Amino acid sequence: MQTQEQKDLIQYAIEQAKLLGILKYLPKGELTHTPFSLSPYVMNESVFEEMAELTVPFNELMFRVSWNTDFLAHHLEPIAAVDPFLKMLLECRSKEITQNSQLLVQRNDFFIANVKQNKESQNRPPTTEITVNAVIRQVELNTISASFPFLISRLNQLHKNLFEQNKLPEVIDNNPLDPVVDAFAHAVHNYGIIDSVMLVVVQPDEKNIFDQRGLEQHLWVKYKIATVRKTLTEIHTDGKLFQGHLVVDGKNVAVTYYRAGYTPEDFTAQEAFKGRQLIEASSTIQVPSLGMHLSGMKKIQQVLTKKEVLADFVSEDISERLLKTFTKMHTLDEVSEAEWLSNRADDYVLKPQREGGGNNYFGSDILKLLHSIKKDEQKAYILMEKIKAVPHSSLQLVNGQAETLNCISEIGRFGICFAENREVKNNLDAGYLVRTKAKNVNEGGVCAGFSCLNSIACFD
Ligand code: ADP
Ligand code: MG
Repeated sequence: MQTQEQKDLIQYAIEQAKLLGILKYLPKGELTHTPFSLSPYVMNESVFEEMAELTVPFNELMFRVSWNTDFLAHHLEPIAAVDPFLKMLLECRSKEITQNSQLLVQRNDFFIANVKQNKESQNRPPTTEITVNAVIRQVELNTISASFPFLISRLNQLHKNLFEQNKLPEVIDNNPLDPVVDAFAHAVHNYGIIDSVMLVVVQPDEKNIFDQRGLEQHLWVKYKIATVRKTLTEIHTDGKLFQGHLVVDGKNVAVTYYRAGYTPEDFTAQEAFKGRQLIEASSTIQVPSLGMHLSGMKKIQQVLTKKEVLADFVSEDISERLLKTFTKMHTLDEVSEAEWLSNRADDYVLKPQREGGGNNYFGSDILKLLHSIKKDEQKAYILMEKIKAVPHSSLQLVNGQAETLNCISEIGRFGICFAENREVKNNLDAGYLVRTKAKNVNEGGVCAGFSCLNSIACFD
């Protein structure tokens, strides 16, 4: 039961959220607040810092991978033979390089897990002590459509206001919106043609519209840079090439920002593919480039967990830091002979080469899928060990309703990296995202109402 004081706080927080633009549409078009938590995720400060310091080396790694076309082809072309969507993406590759500049706005998602470690004690006679350590475990790195820079920055503002009014614990400052918008503005200016716009590639029925609109509004308010929103099909109809530049509705496009184009549903019309190809043939700065999009595939994540593969891209010192965050990932041919998976299916997540949530298989669904696919289709999937995130209690606010649940939190770090002629010019960490969801929910979309946006509070 909630006390009157708690009820008042919940009502107040929801009204404040709406005032700050933390919004979403319900299926029938009514407005509500985006799901958010009133229990900041509490974590150890040194782990928080360690996580933030991973962004710069991960950015650099992803750039090196995205430039290695042979490496990407080697690992992805065999999958494309059985995965039409990946095949189509690979067909967008053009022989000549038309873009000199690249901007990456990524989000690297993690869980914090507790692992037991045996430690030899200094006592005489020596004994083995078991210590529990909080460790950082990577879920995936999103190179395309890394969402929530606007909504999460606004939620941090809300949490900070509540802290100042003694209604919540203190949270760590978080404002990815500013650096993301600064990076877009820098890229537009760098393109060098005055009055250029940023093209936002969108889905026709976008669920997370306010995150995008908030970002566009900020780009206008801070830099007077206009945005044009188009689906890939509309880009085919309304766009053209002019002296190598992409021109849409008569406006020169300096930067093309993908908030679509990562799922087969965005390509149901043949014209969408042509729209994607038109962008590729132009000199617009793509966020992300096609190579970078491909580098975010689960298959690439899986091969990079191998020390000898990672060693081709980063120094030994960096490799050690990144390897510590990886969870075991397998291909299905490594496991199909062994019967062990049928007893341990709950310890795994099976992932196809897809983005955007709702595509993975958990527990017994993994076994069902394995029985229903052909042997050569197995290579389209990777099998990842399940990360056992540390649970915590959280007050979750979804569509005006408050509920305290046993939850886990996924923490993303936003990263920004800009390169010219394959030379990294700017590389930074831009803040965090926390999504808190009930422990028993496998996938967890914020817009679908499963996950709540959140902030972080630290202890020493
Ligand atoms: P997508 O590209 O669809 O977002 P993810 O790899 O991020 O795919 O997986 C979606 C969700 O599934 C994650 O947000 C997380 O909640 C859960 N998940 C994915 N991998 C793991 C894992 N190894 N352990 C536990 N949960 C996972
Ligand atoms: Mg994800």
